[in-house]
Amino acid sequence: MVLIKLDPQAEMKGTDGAQAVGSSAVLHRHLSEDFLVLSKSEGNYLILEDGRRVFDASGGAAVSCIGYRNKRVADAAYRQILDAPYCSTVFYTTKVQEELCRFLVDSTGGQMARAYIVNSGSEAMEAAIKLARQYFIEVKPSQPQRTRFISRRQSYHGITLGALAMGGHMYRREKFEPLLMKNVSQVSPCNESRFKAPTKTNEEYVAELAQELDEEFRKVGPETVCAFVAEPIVGAAQGCVPSVPGYFKAMKAVCDKYGALLIFDEVMCGMGRSGTLHAWQQEGVVPDIQTIGKALGGGYQPIAGLLANHKVIDGIAKGSSVFVHGHTYQGHPACCAAALEVQRIIQEESLVANVASMGRLLSQGLKRRIGNHPNVADIRGRGLFWGIEFVSDKKSSTPFPEEIHVAMVISKLGLDPKYGINVYPGAGSADGRLGDHIIISPAFNIQKEDVEWIVETVGRLVDDYFATLQV
Ligand code: PMP
Repeated sequence: MVLIKLDPQAEMKGTDGAQAVGSSAVLHRHLSEDFLVLSKSEGNYLILEDGRRVFDASGGAAVSCIGYRNKRVADAAYRQILDAPYCSTVFYTTKVQEELCRFLVDSTGGQMARAYIVNSGSEAMEAAIKLARQYFIEVKPSQPQRTRFISRRQSYHGITLGALAMGGHMYRREKFEPLLMKNVSQVSPCNESRFKAPTKTNEEYVAELAQELDEEFRKVGPETVCAFVAEPIVGAAQGCVPSVPGYFKAMKAVCDKYGALLIFDEVMCGMGRSGTLHAWQQEGVVPDIQTIGKALGGGYQPIAGLLANHKVIDGIAKGSSVFVHGHTYQGHPACCAAALEVQRIIQEESLVANVASMGRLLSQGLKRRIGNHPNVADIRGRGLFWGIEFVSDKKSSTPFPEEIHVAMVISKLGLDPKYGINVYPGAGSADGRLGDHIIISPAFNIQKEDVEWIVETVGRLVDDYFATLQV
């Protein structure tokens, strides 16, 4: 296979192969690259410093949900900054935090008892891990030996050390191994197109995965397991992969059998992104703890959180009654005000219903336009959360070599004015079995014309990129 030069970092490399250092003062992830400068964003467009206008078809990292430059949200945050910009939540709460948590708890139809507000998805996951641990320390008879977690390979739960240990996104985690948190083991993810044997029915596949989880519990000692942790729709690590019907019911049954908690990470797929406010509402399963992020604040402020059910909250209330956790900026009033306004807009404009209907059009359109493309292995997702997986050979499902960064280059090519589209790239997994993918996760308020434009533009992008690869 001859590859034409489309290495996103090629121009940054020195003649001796060493990486040149970019001119930015910011400690970026890629030190060698000078990043594009975003000067403005409005509606669903990003406006770059060089004048380029780019349609944000991934809402950043599946964050933007009502578009940018919403004056109502800006005013709400501004008013709150003037009224009470900061609140030390050790001593006080604020009306706006109370209102946001009430909204979140009520949105679960009584399933969840309390909400906890932090500033990022990783913090939310750290809080979830500690809340689950503390629950077992508090409940009587005391079960303090429950210190282990079981999660899934090819998952992502955040970048801080605890959350990283929980995840299976090898590119983001392997450099830091051995991780500080050693009491996590992992089982297989549920990915029908990649890992289900073609001869197996969905029921057989679910039974096989439930059996694997059951065996993992028995292997590590069921009385030592605190919780099973999973994303209802796997985001960054696989590219919008929902599970097959019945999977989470079967996994929860295993957790129940051994008395462990179920934690859902809905940081990326939650708060309306999947076509229901909570992704678990499509699974017929309610977690004990759920984390949320991204679409909670739609990008207007850094905000994330967790919801815990009555069992967990009552357990802690009957114990020490203190969740031994906290951050200086948790429950930040301006963040809460912005998120509350975002959620009000989503409700008033029935945007979750729009996610479901536009999502149907998007998936049909993408499948029609590029479903038969020889390098498109799979198009999957829910709501406005769709992943397109690329392979070099469709029959054998062989991924492209990692070093040509297929998804990264496609995403970068999308910014060319010929296309003017922002899509979110994801690398193939380090275990070599998943292909690269891009994520399409636009704002919840997109209309039919936007969907048609996205489908056609992604189609052209994929056609043009692969036409430059000479085999
Ligand atoms: N969990 C999931 C499922 C995520 O997708 C992410 C972020 N991509 C996180 C946790 C971490 O969130 P943050 O980047 O806000 O810390």
